[in-house]
Amino acid sequence: MSSIIQLLPDHVANQIAAGEVVQRPASVVKELLENAVDAGATDIKLIIKDAGKSLVQVIDNGKGMSVTDSRLCFERHATSKIRLAEDLFSLSTKGFRGEALASIAAIAHVEMKTRQDQEELGTQLVIEGSKFIAQDVAVLPKGTSFSVKNLFFNIPARRNFLKSDTVEHRHILDEFQRVALAHPNIHFTMYHNGSEMFNLPQSNFRQRIVNIFSGKTNEKLVPIQESTEIVGIQGFVSKPEFAKKNRGEQFFFVNDRFIKSGYLHHAIMAAYEGLLKDGSQPSYFIYLNVPPNTIDINIHPTKTEIKFDDEHALYAILRSSVKHSLGQFNVAPVLDFDR
Ligand code: ADP
Ligand code: MG
Repeated sequence: MSSIIQLLPDHVANQIAAGEVVQRPASVVKELLENAVDAGATDIKLIIKDAGKSLVQVIDNGKGMSVTDSRLCFERHATSKIRLAEDLFSLSTKGFRGEALASIAAIAHVEMKTRQDQEELGTQLVIEGSKFIAQDVAVLPKGTSFSVKNLFFNIPARRNFLKSDTVEHRHILDEFQRVALAHPNIHFTMYHNGSEMFNLPQSNFRQRIVNIFSGKTNEKLVPIQESTEIVGIQGFVSKPEFAKKNRGEQFFFVNDRFIKSGYLHHAIMAAYEGLLKDGSQPSYFIYLNVPPNTIDINIHPTKTEIKFDDEHALYAILRSSVKHSLGQFNVAPVLDFDR
């Protein structure tokens, strides 16, 4: 009897996996920025053209890659960040799936330049649709540069599905801001079509928030600080009188990773009970630190949703901490003001 089952060739498997990891130019921005952070960079530049549709480039001054690694990094499940399944529960890096570069290289034209500090020369490499096109030795600055061009060149359906430049640019800004907010100790710059959009010097959380969202933000912020065995909380919430009609700046970070959580959002809203006009939304920038073995990050490829061991305790601690800070800063209720 003949069999009809076959293993998919790597480039096909990569293209399928890419569907999950890379939805739009902003996904490339997120993965490249996170790799630069993981590489220990202190300076990261993001350059985009046409809302990332023609170019997404990330340049870092991190640890770079050896000649061998500069090819290996494009293999699927190739990662320097974990070795064992157990390592998932002591993660200190953004990446660990070893999927991003393989996926991106499967559906775009990628040019990479990289040099390790101790090496005199670096490696320059071109890969298109999972095919290595060229590899050379080159004189390069320390660190790594990835240029990703012509995203979805070989998947027209995906390319046509991209939204207007305005929308795609918005998504890129979101990803850039999330990474920049999580890492105020890193100098970030961003350029779009040749003009500088952001230049964020190394600083602290408060200053980084102000640098991204304008100087006026500073007076709106109430600091949050809490430390228990389950969680350390730092960050800022906005004074109730600055609440907005629509959800504006609402950010959760867990162990330096931006996450979304409707449940924790609810905890914050509960802390504002009686302080907000109907339907208005506070801004918040909440940095949670939890023991890595009490969360599961590997429930979604983009890792923006995570599972906490003790969600209920977290909820209670966060709510009371925010409530306490709002009270301390003598925040008066603004209810019934103009009804
Ligand atoms: P992951 O980040 O999950 O490990 P990636 O596909 O994003 O998977 O990257 C694969 C590997 O390539 C990383 O584990 C890392 O060793 C290397 N790498 C990627 N980007 C960089 C960079 N900017 N600087 C140094 N090494 C990098
Ligand atoms: Mg990665």
